[in-house]
Amino acid sequence: MRQEEPSVGEKKARTAGDTIPLEEYRRKLAEKQREAKVLVICRYCGSKTEQGITKCQNCGAEL
Ligand SMILES: [Zn+2]
Repeated sequence: MRQEEPSVGEKKARTAGDTIPLEEYRRKLAEKQREAKVLVICRYCGSKTEQGITKCQNCGAEL
């Protein structure tokens, strides 16, 4: 996965309908990051585990 902005050459190489608008891309990326930040705190050890995971990644307790 690339982190940097596309270079001028890459922008020129793409056709108009070939890629999603940068704004939409950023919005989707932000949504993904927000989802990933939703955390459940384990009631046994207090460590943070991503929501959707049923077991604590630290102590293995069911959440
Ligand atoms: Zn735990």
